[in-house]
Amino acid sequence: MIRERVDRLLRRLTTERQFPTQGRTLFIDLERREVRPAYAPRRLVDVFLGGRGLNMFYLANLLDPSLEPLNPEIPLIYGAGIGTGIIPSASRGNLTSWSPDSRILLDSNAGDYFPSFLKLNGIDHLILYGRAANPTLLYITGGDLEFRDATPFWGLNNIDMRRRMAFEFNGAWERDLAMINITEAGERGVRIAGVMAGPKSLHARGGGGAKMGSLNLKAVLVQHLLRLDYAYPAKVSPANRDIARQFMNTGVGKILHERGTPFLYKPSRQIWAMATKNNQETVWLDALDSENFDPFRPDMNGCFRCPVNCRPMNDVTSVYPDDADLAELVRHVEALGYNGKRYLKGDGPEYVTVGKLGPNIGMTKPQIVIYLNNICNDLGLDTSATGGNLSWAMELYQRGIISTKETGGLDLAWGNYKAVAELLFLTAKTEGFGRVLAAGSGAVDAGFYPPEAVKYRMTVKRTMQSDPHDARILKAFALGLAVSTRGFDHLRNRVTLEINARINDEPGYKARLYGGPVSGKPTSYEGKEIAVKACEDIYAVGDSVGMCRFTTKLFNSPNLPGYEQFVEQIRNAAGLEYDVEHLQAIGSNIRGIERMINYSLGVSRKDDTCPERWFEEPVRGGPYKGEKLDRAEFEAALDRFYRLCRLNEQGIPTLEWREELNRIVFGYNVTVRIPRAILVVPDGAITVTQETPTMGALLDRLSREYPLLRKALEDEDSLVNVAINDEMFVEGIRDLPLRDGDRVELVQAFSGGGRRPPAEGK
Ligand code: SF4
Repeated sequence: MIRERVDRLLRRLTTERQFPTQGRTLFIDLERREVRPAYAPRRLVDVFLGGRGLNMFYLANLLDPSLEPLNPEIPLIYGAGIGTGIIPSASRGNLTSWSPDSRILLDSNAGDYFPSFLKLNGIDHLILYGRAANPTLLYITGGDLEFRDATPFWGLNNIDMRRRMAFEFNGAWERDLAMINITEAGERGVRIAGVMAGPKSLHARGGGGAKMGSLNLKAVLVQHLLRLDYAYPAKVSPANRDIARQFMNTGVGKILHERGTPFLYKPSRQIWAMATKNNQETVWLDALDSENFDPFRPDMNGCFRCPVNCRPMNDVTSVYPDDADLAELVRHVEALGYNGKRYLKGDGPEYVTVGKLGPNIGMTKPQIVIYLNNICNDLGLDTSATGGNLSWAMELYQRGIISTKETGGLDLAWGNYKAVAELLFLTAKTEGFGRVLAAGSGAVDAGFYPPEAVKYRMTVKRTMQSDPHDARILKAFALGLAVSTRGFDHLRNRVTLEINARINDEPGYKARLYGGPVSGKPTSYEGKEIAVKACEDIYAVGDSVGMCRFTTKLFNSPNLPGYEQFVEQIRNAAGLEYDVEHLQAIGSNIRGIERMINYSLGVSRKDDTCPERWFEEPVRGGPYKGEKLDRAEFEAALDRFYRLCRLNEQGIPTLEWREELNRIVFGYNVTVRIPRAILVVPDGAITVTQETPTMGALLDRLSREYPLLRKALEDEDSLVNVAINDEMFVEGIRDLPLRDGDRVELVQAFSGGGRRPPAEGK
């Protein structure tokens, strides 16, 4: 089935490069060891740009929602942005699929060196499908791809895998080698395993590691770089220098360069918005403020040609073995049979990790958080999902819903670092209570926890919160987390500037920044939908350019590069003439298609919400004591967001927009209006995107998908007539031909004197 879908899709792509820097899309059948190259046609680039945007185009065409996420016929898609490897800090790529953890859209952005190396080998997208017969390594060099046997590397975790690859390929990371790879956790289908993109960088959220493991794909390795041809070569470097200067001149650029993202911990803690103990509390110790990590940060590192270098290196050997807790933790890891001292040095942590492995599970010391972070980096565990699942288990333990009987003797008391470390290793191996964490947010469905445990699961759309910031106070944050297309995630649309006094104190400036009036009061709901939409659009475009979120306008600073700089460098490098409005429309298109993908996976308005706890339990202290989410206000803000974003009451594009997107994405659309008495669907209509040559074929297809409709069609008392493009037909219906763009209306023809179609209806 996937091969038929690929065949159909390839017929709509092209064999000609569309602009000088465009790379190929490689369709890689791992089972058959076949590679088929193509290029995205210009009309698709104009609508989805590249990276995340085009990934969505490919996924929408290849996704079969009747399967399961780990079925090898569900593709895993990698995409470098249109500016990846070209613009400074545009070092990012997106990994996209159907999440085996949340069971909604999986889309994960990461940097380090792999996306740039891929792009600089003339490849923009990898579409991976089919299960390889044996563990496989894809090796790319000089733009060519080879299948290699990965059996000798199967079972290796990240540290050993990187050492072995550098040795086997006689290369050096960051100089001539870059890789994405899975660890043992991914091989074993752990739902909280990511795809490693470096010593620390990880494609997180959604279980990409498990998905890659289901294809028997251990790694994709790229060696050496080619040069790209630019449309206007003389203009690229000067514009790049301006962009680099622009972000290094911002306050946030400087602090990122000095300390990395952990600087964000303190502002959240100070306003009592730091998720603590599974969000039961919202404030934690100043011991984890970023300055307390200074003694353990020997250096900073970063992604491909990024001057910010925001990634902290770490080394806690200065307090080992004097720090009794750390010494005890190392001893415990060694007693479990692992090399305990290898985790005394490493990369990171990011702010997310500090929050998720700090306050959220009750850890108090930077050196302990660092050590646990280093274990996760080696095991390929996503620290946000891991931290979320740990804190969920710990609250269940605290409440007596589970006990040592279920945990296999592990004492899951808050702050018990030895139990946490042990559980990380068990999770990666899917052994003991680790099997429960390995099931991710589906632990209740898998029968590991009783149904009441769901009440304490801090998820949106079954995704654990990515960000440790508790959003009961800042309503724009809450709205953004609720509507994020990949679940409970801050990187899709977070309006970080809501905690920036200058912006809140200048209404005119704030309105210009977001394109409309937004209340300056962080706790107000007024206008917050405008801010969330503005962020969502520019971040989607940033991901399609390949730009890092930290250096994209509106995320952390209003003075970072944004649409204007993207327009300029897309013109200089790729020779494509877009303007700001065009890029904004691309951002909306990406939101639209992501929502359509999610809808096909069962996501609708009911899922655009926040955890109950945020509606029920107020913040207990600090400057915003008493704040929580108000359900009526929240729903009203959600309604406004939907209207602003051209979404219908179920949160998918309105019928008219859906028809437009379908024609672009699938090259085909037939709209079928159905009476509400027969079937209630959003906008009263279904859009069909698979070629359906006759009315009979259409009715058969709809009958399979909608049992209520089948019943109505079979029911003699409810005969259904048909209008096509406003022309009524009452006989010979099944043979009527259908064409792309047709609008069909099913008209209920009641027997026994009810409403009948007009006899002259033809
Ligand atoms: S700002 Fe940091 S994470 Fe972003 S590209 Fe630069 S080094 Fe990488």
